[in-house]
Amino acid sequence: MLLQGKTAIITGSSRGIGRQIAISMAEAGANVVINYRSGTEAAEEVKSLLEAKGLTNVLLFQGSVDDKEAMEAMAKATVERFGGIDILVNNAGILLPKFLMMTKPDEWDQSLNVNLTGVYNCIKASLRPMIERKCGRIVNVSSVASLSGIPGQAAYATTKAGLNGLTRVLSKELAGFGITVNALAPGFIETDMTAIFNEKKTKEYYDMIPLKKFGKPEDIANMAVFLASDQGQYITGQIIAIDGGLSV
Ligand code: NAD
Repeated sequence: MLLQGKTAIITGSSRGIGRQIAISMAEAGANVVINYRSGTEAAEEVKSLLEAKGLTNVLLFQGSVDDKEAMEAMAKATVERFGGIDILVNNAGILLPKFLMMTKPDEWDQSLNVNLTGVYNCIKASLRPMIERKCGRIVNVSSVASLSGIPGQAAYATTKAGLNGLTRVLSKELAGFGITVNALAPGFIETDMTAIFNEKKTKEYYDMIPLKKFGKPEDIANMAVFLASDQGQYITGQIIAIDGGLSV
């Protein structure tokens, strides 16, 4: 199994893409930490689903990624339970579907706090155990919005473009410690995040995508597992679009 004996923290993994990454990593043999902010019932459902498959190395951890102390406590609890941290997937994110002119200052701040400062908090909290072992994998979930300007996603695109910058810098800063850092840039994926689009908008987006459909969480999870495994050991600093050709 690709991730046998590894330990992975996946932020925002009670639903959507994060949920599938947690499931796929557990199925690949990893101990998984399912971080969630408020969806206790959904997080417990993922844990039960994995346990029903005989995958019992699951830790649920409630905490918002923009809460620095909570993320430090999550890293500590992970090391206590599983002995280390091998993989960090920074998946938690929020989409503010607004034009810049309509974006209020507190909405702008909230986007930055969750999508960028949240990643900073999680990386800072998880780095020491990776550095000590001279081995680690960081996978940041960015977005196609960081690659092409999609109107109505000003704050969101700004945060995801920032995440791409952080990914590139960290890949160089951490290479000497045996840690790879990559970002996934999903296009439109079928989750609660894209369920907000009405039929007309969805059709407009389909027309823009060469493969003429939205992707599934599995499309993102497969790449996350690959990058986190030994098979991805020579890939770092990359922003990998998984978008049906949207960004081409
Ligand atoms: P989603 O809304 O279903 O899931 C987002 C998850 O993040 C939820 O579980 C939510 O509770 C969690 N989250 C939000 N704020 C949090 C916080 N402060 N602390 C902890 N968890 C928090 O959306 P999704 O589509 O599964 O999105 C997952 C990631 O993929 C996000 O980073 C998103 O930007 C990115 N993405 C999604 C799409 C898409 O089309 N669905 C496209 C590009 C990028």
